[in-house]
Amino acid sequence: MKRILVTGGSGFLGSHLCDRLLKEGNEVLCVDNLFTGRKSNIHHLLDEKNFEFLRHDITFPLYVEVDEIYNLACPASPVHYQFDPVQTAKTSVIGAINMLGLAKRLKARILQASTSEVYGDPELHPQPESYKGSVNTTGIRACYDEGKRCAETLFFDYHRQHGVDIKVMRIFNTYGPRMHPNDGRVVSNFIVQALKGENITIFGDGMQTRSFCYVEDLIEGMYRLMNSREGFTGPVNIGNPGEFTMLELAQEILDLVGSGSQLKFLPLPQDDPMQRQPIIHMAKKELDWEPKVRLREGLIETINYFDRILKVPV
Ligand code: NAD
Ligand code: UDP
Ligand code: UDP
Repeated sequence: MKRILVTGGSGFLGSHLCDRLLKEGNEVLCVDNLFTGRKSNIHHLLDEKNFEFLRHDITFPLYVEVDEIYNLACPASPVHYQFDPVQTAKTSVIGAINMLGLAKRLKARILQASTSEVYGDPELHPQPESYKGSVNTTGIRACYDEGKRCAETLFFDYHRQHGVDIKVMRIFNTYGPRMHPNDGRVVSNFIVQALKGENITIFGDGMQTRSFCYVEDLIEGMYRLMNSREGFTGPVNIGNPGEFTMLELAQEILDLVGSGSQLKFLPLPQDDPMQRQPIIHMAKKELDWEPKVRLREGLIETINYFDRILKVPV
């Protein structure tokens, strides 16, 4: 049994990770300031003897005793990370320094939830880990993109300078149950709009693409990366290479929900990436990982979840 710290543990991905780590027989310390996370995501764990929740902001030092750290704390949806951009950058950068300082003191292995956003609006398609990215340092997405890029730099410098055992994961768009209904990301927006019979908000002409990974596949990749061979640091892409336009996604969701919602076209936000698709050769080779859940199956699970919580809000 390991003692494992999960920062951002009451968020969408973090809560699924806590479930998985407890299932594997570990002790889990979930640290979250509840900015975008919800207690309802971990409500079912509060009575578990191996689970502990601590309300804490990782931009402040944290002194605990653990064997492993998963650093997921950071708002992930553009609406939320742009709400208080300075705090977003602080969470990524100062939060990373604190968690790396903790890992250094404890000689604990630490995994960073990085992102495909480090590639910015990519000129190279699809994206391998070796691509260095194209990010506007002064734009409205930079607090997140540059914050995450700086966090990767800190991870590699703590590794080289202090020998910290790091694992860096570049997560591509992930969806599934426990996304917040007002999260603002495209999958949750379209599903909630379709279920409520509201207009589907397409930003731009809807021809931009994303590659969507179901949460269960993503958590499996994260767990395998944390437990991968000594010396393998990544960064490694974890995502589903199935690439769709936002119009295709909207149509699929409308078909599955059987909704009569209309499409409503709104302006494309600044710096919105036009295309995104992971190359996952490294994950296949190093982690023997590839996604299993097809978009349609994952959407059905996610639609069922939102259908339930919209009837009885959590
Ligand atoms: P989320 O918003 O649901 O979860 C983030 C969690 O971090 C929330 O519970 C929030 O309250 C907490 N948090 C934010 N700032 C904090 C702080 N300063 N101190 C403590 N807790 C704080 O988002 P998510 O989708 O679960 O994303 C989790 C991680 O994965 C993030 O680091 C995100 O950047 C990364 N990621 C997610 C995706 C995706 O598609 N879901 C894609 C790429 C990267
Ligand atoms: N830190 C922490 N918990 C620990 C150890 C360190 O939160 O158990 C924080 C502390 O705030 C420090 C940061 O991590 O500022 C970086 O630690 P490091 O040892 O690299 O730097 P230093 O302590 O020399 O500033
Ligand atoms: N998007 C959209 N309608 C929405 C929300 C998002 O068309 O209601 C678009 C958005 O402009 C982007 C894509 O969907 O091109 C994915 O957006 P999301 O915020 O989910 O993720 P990210 O842009 O961070 O990949």
